[in-house]
Amino acid sequence: MLALAACSGGSGGEGGEGGGGLIGVAMPTKSSERWIQDGDAVKEQLEEQGFKVDLQYAEDDIPTQVSQIENMITKGAEALIIASIDGTTLSEVLQSAADSDIPVIAYDRLIRDSENVDYYASFDNFVVGQQQAWSLTNGLGLTDLEGNPAEGAPAGPFNIELFAGSPDDNNATFFWNGAMDVLEPLIEDGTLVVKSGQTDFEQAAILRWDGEVAQSRMEDLLTADYSDGSQVDAVLSPYDGLSRGIISALTDAGYAVGAEWPIISGQDAELDSVKAINSGEQFATIFKDTRKLAEVAVNMAAAILNDEEVEVNNETDYDNGVKVVPSYLLESQIVVKDNITEVLVDSGYWTEEEING
Ligand code: BGC
Repeated sequence: MLALAACSGGSGGEGGEGGGGLIGVAMPTKSSERWIQDGDAVKEQLEEQGFKVDLQYAEDDIPTQVSQIENMITKGAEALIIASIDGTTLSEVLQSAADSDIPVIAYDRLIRDSENVDYYASFDNFVVGQQQAWSLTNGLGLTDLEGNPAEGAPAGPFNIELFAGSPDDNNATFFWNGAMDVLEPLIEDGTLVVKSGQTDFEQAAILRWDGEVAQSRMEDLLTADYSDGSQVDAVLSPYDGLSRGIISALTDAGYAVGAEWPIISGQDAELDSVKAINSGEQFATIFKDTRKLAEVAVNMAAAILNDEEVEVNNETDYDNGVKVVPSYLLESQIVVKDNITEVLVDSGYWTEEEING
């Protein structure tokens, strides 16, 4: 159900339809494909609406992102769309934005600890985490992809290891909480066993979503807990880049794709990981259509600058520590080998050639 929230952003001045105002778009890094697609989609759609765009990537360096945003303000940006690196480090620069009446939209990642965040455009991040866990329970034969118990499901126990995202990214806790909502009861009843005992977010978290760090953590887990001949049956991974690191660690440890290969989750439908799903190395990913997210953020910016109502559909879940930020949350989809064509090719996200070429 959609609810409409009255515009509460700054007036922003003369932007809007054909107004040609400048919008600053701050993205975290080019090291992950999805942010490049996000940046391109936001820029293209803003330009279609007649805005000028200053699009910047900060290569995961916080001071760089702060100074890029300061520059946007100096250049006279009329609105800011920001996918933060660390959701807690932008309070000062956002105060400068507010002092100049520049509205701020948090893009995909919630910006925390600041009053000066007007709207949030994202996906239902708790559900994303549940979907990651359901993809694992489905791969193990326990449930369908919506988490409904499968008939004649195996009793287990299955060995599982858990990874989480970057602790400074607000989404990481949402993904973790969603996944643990599904996995915890199965750990408690003994269907799933975490041999390492590392079941806390802090133990599972990978700073800056770094695939190499995930690879070495997986190597350590394999050495410490699986040198007795036991096998890992599933790995919760919240992002395709981490999944690729985990896959490398498993391959180096002698695992081969086939009956014993673990079920591994992911997120973002990155091309290499879609290929890995096709080849059986990764079981699933979560597709979050960056084109749709861009559309939500662009429409928010345009509505604010045109003094129109901003469409939101969640006004309860995203408390940034200072205020609940009115949000528009999109739905995500689980991608497994069987629905790659339907979800990713038919929607024009990837071509058959890109996936198979
Ligand atoms: C995004 C994910 C992405 C991760 C790493 C999160 O904030 O929501 O889609 O996988 O960052 O880039």
